[in-house]
Amino acid sequence: MLPSLLGLTKEELTTYLTEHSHPTFRAEQILDWLWKKRPASIDAMSNLPQQLREHLATHFSHYPLTAARELGSLDQTRKMLYRLHDGRYIESVLIPANPALYGDRADRLTLCVSSQVGCAYGCKFCASGLAGFTRNLTAAEIAAQVLQTEILAQERIDNLVFMGMGEPLANLKNLLTAVELLTSPWGLNLGARHLTISTSGLVPQIRELAAHPRQIRLAISLHGATDEVRNQIMPINKKYPVDELFAALHEWNAKKKQHLTLEYILIQGVNDALEQAHTLAKHARSLNAKVNLIPYNTVEGLTWKRPAISHCHAFRKILTNAGVTATLRLEKGHDINAACGQLRLQQESEEGIIMPAEIKKTS
Ligand code: SAH
Ligand code: SF4
Repeated sequence: MLPSLLGLTKEELTTYLTEHSHPTFRAEQILDWLWKKRPASIDAMSNLPQQLREHLATHFSHYPLTAARELGSLDQTRKMLYRLHDGRYIESVLIPANPALYGDRADRLTLCVSSQVGCAYGCKFCASGLAGFTRNLTAAEIAAQVLQTEILAQERIDNLVFMGMGEPLANLKNLLTAVELLTSPWGLNLGARHLTISTSGLVPQIRELAAHPRQIRLAISLHGATDEVRNQIMPINKKYPVDELFAALHEWNAKKKQHLTLEYILIQGVNDALEQAHTLAKHARSLNAKVNLIPYNTVEGLTWKRPAISHCHAFRKILTNAGVTATLRLEKGHDINAACGQLRLQQESEEGIIMPAEIKKTS
């Protein structure tokens, strides 16, 4: 399979063109086509010499994703299912406005982006972890979710959350290249502060990202305030327990201006005891972090449930009484299987790529 032209940074493209005896100003022209003018094919890049267009089309593919399905939902969340060159599927979810999660940028259009096919971290409640890990997405596949969704939706996306399928920090190299493609003036030109990366808590990579010069935002999928609770549902906690995770988050705070977000799914009888809320409040205050509470979204094949809404409010009240900014996010897109990984599992099992039995076996 040919690599996608979209995956090259300006520096890589310039080097490539120089090595192939083309003037370097062609790099700017090509990037302008790729990210701004967005033609249907490489051949349509009309100010490039015919011979260069032919060379590029022989050595590179253009768009790496093929739109396979698009589902709308009652609240206007739109879920895009993209097919990759190897027949696998990923999801990107377009979310019109989410005052709970994005506060000051509530009127913006947000895209929830995938970073891997499947996920190796096996959180017990999550559809993406159910069928295990298949592969990392390339930088082009990550960034193209934004570009191609803008083209399909004919709208400008202002905000990105890396909260789709996969663990972004387990694919850090490609993720950082994608961040460069998405935030550079020659690329999609999004502000780094409009990008939020979510992680289940990979401590060394959090430290590495803290040292990265761009002011990206970070969200932590905490889902348990103590080792006892977190160990039951998130295997990563055995490797990086709560204390180690928070030490890395304090380091993040020392280096970054943006406040951290702690994500906390509320699962009935698993992590929703009110003592958890008190401990969570202490953690959040020590980090000056904001908390997003998300009532659990049911996943087919799993028996977990969301608590009663009144209980979710009581949990939130403990946090707000302790002076913590806490939102209760009533999941958008509930009616279109919006929890990450669900639509892809359905499609791959229909096509026999993953057998339903295989999903059950790992759950
Ligand atoms: N692997 C990263 C990025 C994926 S983000 C991470 O875990 O942070 C996907 C978010 O959706 C995570 O916070 C995850 O815990 C949450 N999630 C997974 N399954 C869910 C479900 N059924 N209902 C609600 N949230 C869910
Ligand atoms: Fe992977 Fe995140 Fe799902 Fe855990 S919650 S299985 S880390 S995608």
